[in-house]
Amino acid sequence: MRRVRFAPSPTGTLHVGNALTAVLNRRLGEQLLLRIDDTDPARNVPGGEEALLADLDWLGVQWDEGPLRQSERADAYRAAAEQLGRDRFDGITLLRADGTATYHLASVVDDAEFEITHVIRGNDHRPNEALHRRLHEALGTRPPEYVHHGLILGPDGKKLSKRAEGATVASLRSEGIPAAAVRAYLEELGLPKHDVHLDLARIRRLAVDAIGAMQDAELANAAGVPAEVVPALRGARNLVEAREYARIVLEPDEADVDAPETMRRFAELWSNGTSDPREVLRELKAVGGDLHALRLALTGRDRGPELWAVLAALPREEALRRARAAL
Ligand code: GLU
Repeated sequence: MRRVRFAPSPTGTLHVGNALTAVLNRRLGEQLLLRIDDTDPARNVPGGEEALLADLDWLGVQWDEGPLRQSERADAYRAAAEQLGRDRFDGITLLRADGTATYHLASVVDDAEFEITHVIRGNDHRPNEALHRRLHEALGTRPPEYVHHGLILGPDGKKLSKRAEGATVASLRSEGIPAAAVRAYLEELGLPKHDVHLDLARIRRLAVDAIGAMQDAELANAAGVPAEVVPALRGARNLVEAREYARIVLEPDEADVDAPETMRRFAELWSNGTSDPREVLRELKAVGGDLHALRLALTGRDRGPELWAVLAALPREEALRRARAAL
């Protein structure tokens, strides 16, 4: 049984690099423990754990055990330090002056006690492997296998700051990237041996694919809009744009439209039972109809979803009402 753990510090929303670690653990582990590494008060931010769980939930990464909080395991760490007979080891601090354990001791003790067989984490922890092995040896516990993966760096090849564009799961979500696209991006990185550069252009293309692959109800739910309006969202490149498209259809702006002939012809064609909006628009254009004026009458805006999609999303009566109101 491959037992793994994902062990973030509760520093708030997930960094994409941490999200990669989470996805890798989920994929390679059979039993996944979620461990919250909260022994360092300086790194804990209020609401950090909730933000983290919300991000994992949004990404669809499920765990089998936990969350296990290291802050609740002080006794186990103290016992280990006692067993070692010191609070320093190999030149590093195991227990702080206030008696709380540092990352190294807490991590090794927990990996042993929770019978973790594979530690999968970022390359930044590679330098810790030797120390962690020696700690296991000193404690008489069996070290897990260590697997270190490449980090996600900024497009400039430097460490990706949480403030950088697209660096956190939360920022991708608020940009309207569907969870499936973030997940697909992380899955396609596989287990990178070397560091990779964050490829936002790739993530945005995957967002288009993910939206294209969604069923109507799924898309309505992801965008948080009524299902009827979904036909108008189909050309949107992300969920923010999808919401904007929905608003354009559902809450038209006022606009001055001076194209009575177009409105009359449209009303005629659209009330005469033709059910294909593309067909109606073709016919309207063929008789010299002003499609831009029709867009303005229907949405009050110059731009937005394709016009046929607006018609597909609007109840026929409502489209006719808006066209007549523009007369
Ligand atoms: N809390 C550590 C981190 O966030 C965990 C490292 C590990 O997986 O051992 O980087």
